[in-house]
Amino acid sequence: MRAVPVDGDPNGRNFLGRRGDNVEIYLEGNKSYMVKRIYAVYGASGFGREVMPSARSHLSKQGIESEIVFIDDSLTTDIVNGHRVLTYAAFRMIDAEEKFISIAIADSGVRERIAETCIRDGVAFFSIPADNAVILDQVEIGTGAIICPFVSLTSNIVIGSHFHANIYSYVAHDCVIGDYVTFAPGVKCNGNVIVEDHAYIGTGAILRQGKVGKPLVIGRGAVVGMGAVVTKNVSAGTTVVGNPARLLIKN
Ligand code: UDP
Repeated sequence: MRAVPVDGDPNGRNFLGRRGDNVEIYLEGNKSYMVKRIYAVYGASGFGREVMPSARSHLSKQGIESEIVFIDDSLTTDIVNGHRVLTYAAFRMIDAEEKFISIAIADSGVRERIAETCIRDGVAFFSIPADNAVILDQVEIGTGAIICPFVSLTSNIVIGSHFHANIYSYVAHDCVIGDYVTFAPGVKCNGNVIVEDHAYIGTGAILRQGKVGKPLVIGRGAVVGMGAVVTKNVSAGTTVVGNPARLLIKN
């Protein structure tokens, strides 16, 4: 059971049908009404292109047939993998009543800056759970999450906003994950672990299981290097590497 669904229709309305270009008809109470909506994956580089198929499939499963575009402020091509590419400024100019974005950019600082701009501009967020992501009991997920293929989130987990779980990662029981946290592919986050805001966990890293009342803590903005085996708390803002993971001293 999904305790908190990863947002589908963000307003929880019943989709009735569709008329013309991106115009959708909804039922609220006993009244039906139409909205023109558009969805975007922000970032058309590597990660964005990996995420787009899951976005397409997730929205289609909700019966949402609105256009999904890429937003990218640097690309010069008009179309990527069959989707229009717009700058954020051009996206803002589009005539739509409701706009939704999922930010598929790995750099958490960039993600936060873009999220703040969207909030200021009245652009909403949507989450993208891959079709085969496994999400078990009592999993709370904040807005704008991207849960890639083959990810498992087991039971009793709390996750903040704009979380990225790249392919083959897992989060086990009783973990608390902050805002703008990024898991590269294949992260093994065992039970009773706290990962604070903006932490980045590299490919294949293993976070040792914490204890009830004494969780393992990865501090705010910490970086765990690829393949690291983390057995102790990691202080905020530090980088650890290796097995067992040790502080990286930069020369
Ligand atoms: N980008 C953007 N606006 C910004 C910052 C980044 O459109 O304010 C785009 C950038 O042009 C690039 C993508 O986001 O295409 C980030 O891709 P990158 O290869 O840095 O990393 P990824 O997150 O895909 O691994």
